[in-house]
Amino acid sequence: MKITEHINNAKGKTLFSFELLPPVKGQSITSIYNTIDALMEFNPPFIDVTYHREDYIYKQHANGLLERIAYRKRPGTVAICAAIMNKYKVDAVPHLICGGFTKEETENALIDLHFLGIDNVLVLRGDARKADKDFVPTPGGHAYATDLLQHVKEMNNGKYLHEDIENSERTDFCIGVAGYPEKHFEAPNFQTDFNYLKKKVDMGADFIVTQMFFDNSKYKAFVEQCRAHDINIPIIPGLKPITSARQLITLPKIFHIDIPLELSEAIDACKSPHAVRELGIEWMVQQCKELVAFGAPVLHFYTMGNPGPTKRIVEQVF
Ligand code: FAD
Repeated sequence: MKITEHINNAKGKTLFSFELLPPVKGQSITSIYNTIDALMEFNPPFIDVTYHREDYIYKQHANGLLERIAYRKRPGTVAICAAIMNKYKVDAVPHLICGGFTKEETENALIDLHFLGIDNVLVLRGDARKADKDFVPTPGGHAYATDLLQHVKEMNNGKYLHEDIENSERTDFCIGVAGYPEKHFEAPNFQTDFNYLKKKVDMGADFIVTQMFFDNSKYKAFVEQCRAHDINIPIIPGLKPITSARQLITLPKIFHIDIPLELSEAIDACKSPHAVRELGIEWMVQQCKELVAFGAPVLHFYTMGNPGPTKRIVEQVF
């Protein structure tokens, strides 16, 4: 079922969902099932699975030469989505990125998803490879989420890359896009980034999932700005509790978000890792209660392979 249908069927009640990362190559899918098993009691109508582009590793040969090898550390997104749908009867939402795919490969991936009965995709540009300073599009691939979105919309209209296909089947994907209440880090200013978000919505995005944030006023201002500019699709807040003091440094560095002073000072004052975890959970419980009161359609958690804190929070919110 489409995410927009799940939200409509809830008639204003806030839903719960979460995001999973595929296991590192060579690891078992059991960690995915363990996370889902821990959170199934809260009836998630959908579960997201991230997509990870290839990165480079360097292998040293006996003659001293270094060989650069491209490899994907976390493969398996599409198969995990199929496994989730099969085992749990819950809608799986694969993330689909521009990086690492030619247009042809993108189309074939979408055909796989369509045949698997997957109704939703979150379309993204994707992160830059660690070895590259900036995002580098794959030759023959899409450069921005808008391009990928356009491709999915065309398939939804029965138009595939090779126009000689007659009577082609229309896919019917419900399409999500990313939104940044604190702006995307590459954009010169909030308004420019917002204009591109507006473009994604005008091109036919069905829902927005936000980057994580720790200050609800940022989400609320973002929703208000969207509504003022005729963006009327659901805006799903992405949430992650702080679980270690180190995240005061790593989260802003990786996700380009602010940690409010009140939270960072409280974490600095904690006497143990346990106290930090408890504080992170308490902060997120308060955030979630406010977001429910504000009318957020879904509370969407970035579990990052650790369902424990999410479970503690959701128990106190729903
Ligand atoms: P875009 O919307 O393409 O925007 C990228 C930048 O270009 C922005 O600065 C924007 O302002 C600008 N821009 C947008 N359109 C245009 C245009 N047409 N012309 C010029 N400039 C433009 N990454 C992964 O690799 N895998 C994942 O599974 C994944 N999941 C994510 C889930 C969520 C909810 C979020 C918020 C992010 C996720 N990311 C993931 C990270 C994401 O790929 C990065 O933040 C990436 O840098 C931007 O992706 P985007 O889709 O927002 O890009």
